[in-house]
Amino acid sequence: MSNATIIDGKTFAANLRADIGRKVAVLKEKHGLIPGLSVVLVGEDPASEVYVRNKGKATVEAGMNSNTYTLVENATHDEVMAKVQELNTDPAVHGILVQLPLPDQVNEDAIINAIDPDKDVDGFHTLNVGRLNSGQNAMAPCTPVGCMVMLKEVHGDLTGKQAIVVGRSNIVGKPMAALLLKEHCTVTIAHSRTQDLAAECRRADIVIAAVGRPRMVKGDWIKPGATVIDVGINRIEDSSTKSGTRLVGDVDFDEGVKVAEAITPVPGGVGPMTIACLLKNTLTAACRQAGVDEPE
Ligand code: NDP
Repeated sequence: MSNATIIDGKTFAANLRADIGRKVAVLKEKHGLIPGLSVVLVGEDPASEVYVRNKGKATVEAGMNSNTYTLVENATHDEVMAKVQELNTDPAVHGILVQLPLPDQVNEDAIINAIDPDKDVDGFHTLNVGRLNSGQNAMAPCTPVGCMVMLKEVHGDLTGKQAIVVGRSNIVGKPMAALLLKEHCTVTIAHSRTQDLAAECRRADIVIAAVGRPRMVKGDWIKPGATVIDVGINRIEDSSTKSGTRLVGDVDFDEGVKVAEAITPVPGGVGPMTIACLLKNTLTAACRQAGVDEPE
């Protein structure tokens, strides 16, 4: 069998971001509306700082307003809550993102559920979770949305496909399964207690790996011709690189690429799509709040 098509997330993301930039320009021109995204970061976790910086940069590049509020590591729950409430009432802010994880003294669930659901561009608010799972028009989490954009582009109609989502987190696995169900897939959700995970994966036309275990999904777990979306980001040691480490996914890419019809690489697959979909959600939120149609 020939090698799989490699799904180029960087190109998908660049195209999506260009399209969003074009729509933002139309909104400005026609309605004087500039979508605004505010990010709240608590503390100085280096990985979170990088994510937040990249999000801000992408927001500005799309022509939107971007604000980042950095609170000190020992900020109290009430201080974080006050910032969220201030942003909820600011009409120039259409999207609010609180960078996770939050320090222990801050109640994460309470903060997420304090965000105005219409501004909840991460799609983590309980109301948006409920909307998504009851098939209503929800703000859905960015990573699974990015996976769906790529899947639909590669596959077209997903009706009747057997899909497996390995991982059941609230930010990836569960919303991913809900989105696949919405597209009429037959969905299996697997997790750490699943028995014979390899056999479950082998039945699937679509495999979504969101586990956080380097190269766990082997080539012989994949049905020939399946599409594989690898959400995992794992840093492993590699003495052949300058830094001594490199990133790999949850799928053994070298094996998977020989069996699958199409597969995402890590890095350069799902990752770039996550930020692009954050911009997409911010654009949608701004249009809904302003009561205008999203530009074609
Ligand atoms: P979590 O740790 O929250 O969830 C991991 C899931 O994997 C859990 O449901 C767990 O099962 C399951 N799991 C763990 N071990 C096994 C196993 N041996 N067999 C089967 N299932 C197992 O992770 P996230 O969902 O937050 O993230 C998953 C991966 O995706 C990570 O590598 C993360 O870095 C990456 N990620 C990438 C993003 C991107 O933009 N590309 C965005 C978000 C995450 P159980 O529930 O039973 O414990």
